[in-house]
Amino acid sequence: MKSKPWLCGSGAHVVGLVVWNGNGVAQLALTPDPIPDGSFAFTVVTGKATIYCPECQTTRLWDVSVEALVEMFRHLDAGQVFEFSKRLLESAGPPSRSPRPESMDREKAGG
Ligand SMILES: [Zn+2]
Repeated sequence: MKSKPWLCGSGAHVVGLVVWNGNGVAQLALTPDPIPDGSFAFTVVTGKATIYCPECQTTRLWDVSVEALVEMFRHLDAGQVFEFSKRLLESAGPPSRSPRPESMDREKAGG
């Protein structure tokens, strides 16, 4: 598996490891935190997250790269593209519903 170190906001400390999953999507595997019982807590970040460095008290934003998204889309087949489009539309609400003219009128009146 391809991977590379990911540095904190100051660039001085390694706070995790960037790994690419089977679909070419970059994920951030944070440096494991030791637990008193001797085991480790593993955290893997896929979406947006602010990562804190305890050593220099800086933060750095982790985000999925555009390259990773494009790479992911390249490998979609027609059925997946259709399903993705359908769900995107569903999450935006029914297409037949008009964008609430009443509330728009209220905003105009209030403004
Ligand atoms: Zn640091």
